[in-house]
Amino acid sequence: MKISRIEHLGIAVQSIDAVMPYFQDVLGLEYYKSEVVEDQKVKTAFLKVGEVKIELLEPTSPDSTIQKFLDNGGKGVHHVAFKVEDGVSEALAMCDEKGIRLIDKAPRGGADGLSIAFLHPKSTCGILTELCEE
Ligand code: ZN
Repeated sequence: MKISRIEHLGIAVQSIDAVMPYFQDVLGLEYYKSEVVEDQKVKTAFLKVGEVKIELLEPTSPDSTIQKFLDNGGKGVHHVAFKVEDGVSEALAMCDEKGIRLIDKAPRGGADGLSIAFLHPKSTCGILTELCEE
């Protein structure tokens, strides 16, 4: 698999509105997009840090995985997303071959027009890992 860079960091928050002043007014990051991802039951907001993005994730339902993460004491960085240059499907096949537990067996549509798939943190040093391509 060929990873070119970190595409974004996913950060779990209870309220995007509540944390925006920190990201925009203190860090001075540029907000450029908000989007609801229905099947993930999250609202996202994107900010730019150079080429890398910060993806704020707010649960839209009590059974959202983000709400569960927050309820279990999770806070802050929720996942790291890597940009793969040679295809998410190919990367998944390679990970599967190497015994990495997959959350997604095939790529699916994510926020901001990306094709994405997650690897299970049990196989990735505890870091929920997202592979993505444009
Ligand atoms: Zn993400």
